Parts: sequence; C-alpha cells; structure tokens
Amino acid sequence: MPLPDVTQTYRDPHRYPKGISFLDDQYVPMDQAKVSVLDYGFLHSDATYDVVHVWQGAFFRLDLHLDRFFAGLEKLHMAIPYNRDEVIEILQNCVALSGHRDAYVELICTRGNSPDFSRDPRDAINRFMAFAIPFGSVANKAQMKRGLHLAISDRVRIPSSSVDPSIKNYHWLDLVQGLYDAYEKGAETTLLLNDHGNIAEGPGFNVFAVKDGLVATPDSGVLAGITRQTVFDLCAELGIACEATQISRDELVAADEIFISSTAGGVMPVTRLNHSVVGDGLLGPIYRQVHQLYWDKHNDPVWALPINYS
Ligand code: PLP
Repeated sequence: MPLPDVTQTYRDPHRYPKGISFLDDQYVPMDQAKVSVLDYGFLHSDATYDVVHVWQGAFFRLDLHLDRFFAGLEKLHMAIPYNRDEVIEILQNCVALSGHRDAYVELICTRGNSPDFSRDPRDAINRFMAFAIPFGSVANKAQMKRGLHLAISDRVRIPSSSVDPSIKNYHWLDLVQGLYDAYEKGAETTLLLNDHGNIAEGPGFNVFAVKDGLVATPDSGVLAGITRQTVFDLCAELGIACEATQISRDELVAADEIFISSTAGGVMPVTRLNHSVVGDGLLGPIYRQVHQLYWDKHNDPVWALPINYS
C-alpha cells in the first residue's frame, strides 16, 4: 500500500491536525478523503461502521470493536479485501501517520458503487475506508464538569424489527430530529424511546440510570455499545449491581443519578433531565467511581493496545 512521505510527521502531530484517512487503498490527509456520490453508503445509508478511540497512544478495547464491525459486515452480506490483522494495521497506520496521541478512529464499509447503477446490492463493489482524527466527545469540557442537560423525546428510535441495532449503522434521522426537539426545549441532547414507549438511547450514546445503588440500562432498541459493555464490566469489578432492563420515562425522571456512555467521551454525567434536576444536581458517587475506573483501565494492557508511532 503506498504511503505518503511522512518522515517528519511521526514527530510532528501538527503536520496533519485534521487527521489521516485510508480510502481506495491509499492514505490521504482528511481533507482529501472524498467518496463517490453514487456510493450506496451515501445514497441509501447502506453501510456499517465502528468507532474506537485512542487515548495516550493506545487503542481501547479494539478487539470488541472489530468483533462488532466484522459481525456487521457478515449480517449485511458485505466483504472487504482485508482480514482482521490487516484492518488493525490500517487503523494503526492512520493514527501513526496523523501523529495524534488521542484520536477518534472510524472504520466504515459502504455498499459501494455498482458499475451500471444497478439497484441490486449484490452488484455493488463494497468499499472499506478508515480515518483517524483528533479525539472527540459527546460532552464538552464544561458539560463533563457540570453534567449534561437531556430531554426525553416523544420519538421512537427506529425499531429493531426494521433495522437490526446490533449492526452499527447510519440510520440517524430520528436521532437528529430528536436533537432539534431537545434544542427547542433548551436541552443539549436527547433520548429517544423504544417500541414499548420506554427509554432507548441518544445520538451516539447509551444511557444508565442509578436508583438506590442499582445501575440499569435499556435492554432493547439500542446499539450494544462497547462502552455500555465496559460499564457492565467495571460495575462487576466495583461490586455494583448493573442490569439491562426496561426503563420507563418516569423511572428515569426519578433516578438518583444518570450517565451516558460512548466511545466518543467514555462515561459522561447527566445532571438535568427535561425541566428537572437529576438527584441533587451534582455528579453522582456511582458515576464518579465508574468514570475513574474507566480511565484507569486505559493503562491496563488487557484493554489497551499501544500504537507504534515509529
Ligand atoms: N448508540 C448509538 C446509536 C451510537 O451511535 C453509539 C456510538 O456511536 C452508541 C450507542 C455507543 O456505542 P459505543 O459505546 O460502542 O461507542
């Protein structure tokens, strides 16, 4: 695979401040990464993807992200010309070439273009691409400090019977419309409902409610987030009970603590829901424990895979 001349780049994270992409077998600076408008990933949202983060020069739980990505490919009848080790090498190269120590790394497979614009998905040539850009978070610095303000939307997240949520996908119109609903209510982000009318998930995150020391997260209509799984693992280690179950709107409103989870930011506090303060309005004790252990685990070689920048 041809590599750009990056002899300076390894020591200069500012050479590619916007990051590096791998597209059509080439590594290119992010602003040169362009996809055909005839790609069905763009025209039909016919794509799957995953996002893993790099923190202080190491991938976090990369294996779980790759398991989910390759499972999604299979469910969508897609194939890429790289095996798992080659994908790891591509992701590594994107990060190393970008120079970023803290990065947001996305891998994508689109249905691709079909030679004669055929509507038969079997005719399309699947396209694999990846990129590494600076680390991004759902919650900004101020929100991490004081907690996010969420509003529960009346919208139902696209049901599992329509689109299998175990395939990480770009069916986001419900989430985006939910965001605008939330802005109208003065909130910062949104939570959509599942097809039982209970809480599902938000744009790019899962949600957790704490009541009387018990942690709960929705068990249906959601992406099985890797950070969500990590919260289960961390709670087990901390001796905190954590379960996946149905959570009604009223139960969420009555929670002592609420937090959200995403590769983009880790575990993040919520201190306002609709027009009410959550619990005492401060970052909760269980959130604090989980948050601390989450970032401590980024130094644990069991979960962290160092990038080779040289
Ligand atoms: N739910 C949705 C709809 C998402 O898009 C995401 C991440 O992008 C999540 C949940 C959180 O998943 P993860 O923890 O794997 O980042």
